Amino acid sequence: MRIVVDRALCVGHARCHALEPDLFPIDDLGYVDVTDPELPAADQAARARRAAAACPERALRVVEHSQP
Ligand code: SF4
Repeated sequence: MRIVVDRALCVGHARCHALEPDLFPIDDLGYVDVTDPELPAADQAARARRAAAACPERALRVVEHSQP
């Protein structure tokens, strides 16, 4: 699994970061700044999905590697 970020939609709520700071780091302006989108551990995907669901802008997705 991996994280896909639509940076054009991110407005910097940082809700993802508040829930999962290790998976969703933010930059100095508060925008999500995912540098490692890979989620090799099963629990990481579950945590990432929960944080992605908290994004009001729908800027985050957690997808299989085969998905775009
Ligand atoms: S919750 Fe959504 S809009 Fe807010 S920082 Fe995270 S990705 Fe961006």
